[in-house]
Order: sequence, then structure tokens, then C-alpha cells
Amino acid sequence: MHLSREAFRGLVLEALEGLPEDFLDRMDNCDVVTQDWPDSHQLDLGSSGSRYDLLGLYEGIPLTERDFYDLVLPDKITLFQRPLEAICPTKEEVVEQVRITVAHEIAHHFGIDDERLEELGLG
Ligand SMILES: [Zn+2]
Repeated sequence: MHLSREAFRGLVLEALEGLPEDFLDRMDNCDVVTQDWPDSHQLDLGSSGSRYDLLGLYEGIPLTERDFYDLVLPDKITLFQRPLEAICPTKEEVVEQVRITVAHEIAHHFGIDDERLEELGLG
């Protein structure tokens, strides 16, 4: 499975547009970007040993922790194209996995942790 960067970006946008409206309304100062592979710093943050294991990463200050929030860089959600392609043999599976990963990382933006996401089926 190998998509062009543009096609992959398109899938990420579709995943975002497919989210419930009140979900999107609550997002604040948060960029969603795509990248081929995670770099070593991102791998550390994602606590993944292998670059194939990190599909997405949330970096920022969750909404629940913004007590003194002013003049800071936007939160960033990164979707890693190559690892996603590597585990998804078909485009349909990439679409589904991008959808899950986008929702998972946005949930982190909302302050929901991985444990709770497992319970919600978004681990
Ligand atoms: Zn997570």
C-alpha cells in the first residue's frame, strides 16, 4: 500500500470531516499534520520502540490542563503515513485506521488518556 502524500492528506481531512460536529467544535488551537515517518524524538514521546508502531502522535497541552494558557504554539496531531500504510494492505483499511488514529489523538487533545481510550475501543 503506497499512497501519494496528497492522497493521504485527503484521507486525513475526510476523517476529520467525518467526526461529529460537537467534537470538532470543541477542538481549540490544534493543528493536524501528516509526516512520512516519526523521528527519534517523536518515537520517544510515543513510547514506541519501532518506527512501525507509531501511527499517530499528539503533542501539546490538553484542554483540561489549560489553566494558564496564553501565547503558546498550537497543539499538534501528526499522522504517520508510512507506518499506517505498512499495517494496512488495502486503501479501505488505511481509511479505517486513519479514522481511528485521528479520533484517538483528538481525544488526547481533550485530555482523555490511553487507558480510557482502550475502554472506548479506540486504543
Ligand atoms: Zn494514545
